[in-house]
Amino acid sequence: MKAQPPASHFIDGEYVEDIDGTPFDSIYPATGEVIARLHAATPAIVEKAIAAAKRAQPEWAGLSPTARGRILKRAAEIMRERNRELSELETLDTGKPIQETIVADPTSGADAFEFFGGVAAAALNGDYIPLGGDFAFTKRVPLGVCVGIGAWNYPQQIACWKGAPALVAGNAMVFKPSENTPLGALKIAEILLEAGLPKGLYNVIQGDRTTGPLLVNHKDVAKVSLTGSVETGRKVAGAAASSLKHVTMELGGKSPLIVFEDADLESAIGGAMLGNFYSTGQVCSNGTRVFVQKGIKDRFLSRLKERTEKIIIGDPMDEATQLGPMVSRAQLDKVFSYIEKGKAEGATLVTGGGIPNSVSAQGTYIQPTVFADVTDEMTIAREEIFGPVMCVLDFEREDEVIARANGSEFGLSAGVFTSDLTRAHRVVDQLEAGTLWINTYNLAPVEVPFGGSKQSGFGRENSLAALNHYTELKSVYVAMGPVQSPY
Ligand code: NAD
Repeated sequence: MKAQPPASHFIDGEYVEDIDGTPFDSIYPATGEVIARLHAATPAIVEKAIAAAKRAQPEWAGLSPTARGRILKRAAEIMRERNRELSELETLDTGKPIQETIVADPTSGADAFEFFGGVAAAALNGDYIPLGGDFAFTKRVPLGVCVGIGAWNYPQQIACWKGAPALVAGNAMVFKPSENTPLGALKIAEILLEAGLPKGLYNVIQGDRTTGPLLVNHKDVAKVSLTGSVETGRKVAGAAASSLKHVTMELGGKSPLIVFEDADLESAIGGAMLGNFYSTGQVCSNGTRVFVQKGIKDRFLSRLKERTEKIIIGDPMDEATQLGPMVSRAQLDKVFSYIEKGKAEGATLVTGGGIPNSVSAQGTYIQPTVFADVTDEMTIAREEIFGPVMCVLDFEREDEVIARANGSEFGLSAGVFTSDLTRAHRVVDQLEAGTLWINTYNLAPVEVPFGGSKQSGFGRENSLAALNHYTELKSVYVAMGPVQSPY
């Protein structure tokens, strides 16, 4: 299987190569096959991308929002027309099963282009402020050159979630995908060009943790939006602060999902499974601390075990497959090391914990894993694992579970399952998280702001809120009479 792009980078409307950059391979996680060989960006490539963005941005910002939005909506149409091709590429890039990518990845990217393209004409207006004769008005203006840096779990979605609001607001973007998943963003750049986006406005360059700082520290960059780990977030926000750049930080989590005794049990189990096993557990907002009220613990665990053991693991290109491999060997090893810690610290392994049968030995597969009797102090209850490992913790009282759910440095997401709606609202009001769900989990439609609090980051993606993070306000005071001066 090959997915070799014409070149490593996409700058100023065309593919560009610089073989002086460090070579790296793109590996299909299901088989370990090398599917493409690319080169990390050299400083010359970084300069070229930022210069192209800087040159193209002012004319783009001078178009009406309607004209910019029209191009994004066209890009959304192309993405939908090519959904299968893009989904297959996403599966090759990440190892996620086609059953998921075909409904969740390019489609979610297309939703972002459609939403931001559609709202552009109405959402970028300013205010008129009457001042008794004099008046003022505000303008919402683009920031200039914005940098997007992506994680490897949703490469196409991240490229679009950052690109769509940035572009529609009149900015240019230089996007660096994760070195683990370099392919999808290049296709997004191609599609935007085909949709009519002028050259230089959406550039993609490859590289790793050594390339990112070249972008973050660049004097011509106005904003950095990162999706990544907390550790990287601290470095990127720190570097951006030294030159006072705008930042959006979409970071990690260890989110609580609380199941009360009166919850619809099958729904709650379904929500917990989706919130731990979808994308092989590589979802930032996953509800990895599942708090189950004591009275239903045994029933919850026995149905969870039964349903988890029926999950179909295998070839990601087979539409029947429900769980693919982890993105890389390094990530797989990390997840296995957490499973060992869970066992060593006394958690009960309910199911999983090993390598599944009948998958390629070169693939980075792992069984969906459930631990019960997990306590708040255990490493697996405190640290983000980023794999298909669910921790089930017991609780008795509402006030107790709220305090324990909030006892984490993270604050990305949280969920509550209960049939008592008053309780549901009372609990979500007290949970410290940016994105919360009642009686479902992990849905992130483009209309709803998405993002975290505490160490999970700041800023929001999706919804009109994202436009605020890619623009700044200009206030203009207009005097209607002579200046009253004491001098
Ligand atoms: P990572 O932090 O290792 O890397 C993220 C990106 O940052 C990569 O492109 C990487 O090359 C780049 N990078 C690394 N060091 C950098 C530096 N010093 N300067 C600039 N760029 C640098 O994360 P990952 O392993 O790719 O992704 C997994 C993490 O991402 C998890 O913690 C997960 O929770 C988080 N995540 C968050 C969200 C969200 O929306 N909140 C979504 C997906 C993933």
